[in-house]
Amino acid sequence: MNLVLMGLPGAGKGTQAEKIVAKYDIPHISTGDMFRAAMKDETELGLKAKSFMDKGELVPDEVTIGIVRERLSKDDCEKGFLLDGFPRTVPQAEALENILSDLNKKLDFCINVQVDQEILMERLTGRRICKGCGATYHLVFNPPTKPDTCDRCGGELYQRADDNEATVKNRLEVNIKQSQPLLDFYESKGYLRNINGQQDINKVFVDLDELLSTLK
Ligand SMILES: [Zn+2]
Repeated sequence: MNLVLMGLPGAGKGTQAEKIVAKYDIPHISTGDMFRAAMKDETELGLKAKSFMDKGELVPDEVTIGIVRERLSKDDCEKGFLLDGFPRTVPQAEALENILSDLNKKLDFCINVQVDQEILMERLTGRRICKGCGATYHLVFNPPTKPDTCDRCGGELYQRADDNEATVKNRLEVNIKQSQPLLDFYESKGYLRNINGQQDINKVFVDLDELLSTLK
């Protein structure tokens, strides 16, 4: 099964990725891991990527695409793969189509873990941290017993600047703007499958699993 996994921050994409690779024994290929491995192995492309990163510059598409090509050519991708964080743009998605066709493979699904923006806001802005001991809470998932008060030490809870509404909203909007053309691309190709990410984590995986079992 050859998969691309998409989802906005807070959609729970990482959790579902773990469950998919554990059950189906395919490699989870995230862009970060791929770059780190290429740099560690000092492949030609890895060194090239490093030279851009060291200068604080974006790695050009041709280098990124080359690294993806190398990674997908490895033996452990024979049974399939789960791509996460690549492609990010339509040109990258088109390049992926070419890579797969060269390798005699084809994409099965682009899975999009879908969660409404308001719920993502709630998930992403809910974190609270204790000023006294640093304990972490979440207003929805792990609330303190008394509002704004640490259960452990009685300290006052605060919200990090990164978690505030304006910052999170902006981050989400940037992500939506980036991912929409990609979702449109995969929809037009017939690969897009939306999974309802607003359910319990285990139920999300039941739905995913049902979809993936159609591939066997
Ligand atoms: Zn505390």
